[in-house]
Amino acid sequence: MCRHAAWLGPPRSLASLVSDPEHGLLRQSYAPRLQRYGTVNADGFGFGWYDAALPGPVRYRRAVPIWADANMPGLAAAARSSCLLAAVRSATTGMPVEETATAPFADGRWLLSHNGRVRREAVRPLVTGVDADPESACDSAWLASAVFARLRDGVPLADALSLVVCEAAEGDRHARLNLLVTGGAEVAAVTWGDTLFTHLEEGVLVSSEPLDDRPGWRAVPDRSLLLASPDGVAVTPI
Ligand code: GLN
Repeated sequence: MCRHAAWLGPPRSLASLVSDPEHGLLRQSYAPRLQRYGTVNADGFGFGWYDAALPGPVRYRRAVPIWADANMPGLAAAARSSCLLAAVRSATTGMPVEETATAPFADGRWLLSHNGRVRREAVRPLVTGVDADPESACDSAWLASAVFARLRDGVPLADALSLVVCEAAEGDRHARLNLLVTGGAEVAAVTWGDTLFTHLEEGVLVSSEPLDDRPGWRAVPDRSLLLASPDGVAVTPI
């Protein structure tokens, strides 16, 4: 499984997810503590964030280990936002290793990351016949397309995620479908087969596993939908 993390709250740098905390995504890329599938996350990494001066999110994705990008520390320190998403990738066997297969996937204002794996045949019915065009053959890109198509149709975020996850799981009983999605003003996450934690401070951190050893990290139960907004955090069973 890959590892992902997001922040919603007063502006912070991407380094607050990646390199400032002792177990940030940089450390998790080679020494994750709770990862059950795969050992290192060296097949690429991606950042997504929002800048009030720009109409949509900014993305930075590479198909190299996060520690191998000499420009990453400067970028992560400089890029600040009230909404951040970052991911490090361990490619599923058979999936391409390329920038376009690396989270976050994007459509309009939406960003999406996936921890897990799913048979593309289980997602195909959700993509076929709708205005969706996966940017990579990677299973995660297909899942992203299925979600984005519904969001473009005006389906509310929580409904779009539950629908896609339930149908994909119906088609692949062994699917692992942890998703992290943001539109800049809210963060939504699904747990389906892997861990997810939150930490409430002056905003909310959402992360596959705790970024540090401070008290206050809470595990989100499996098969849940988490919705975080400036009004608070709600977790409901799927
Ligand atoms: N299946 C996705 C990929 O190949 C996600 C992998 C993961 O969570 N490790 O990128």
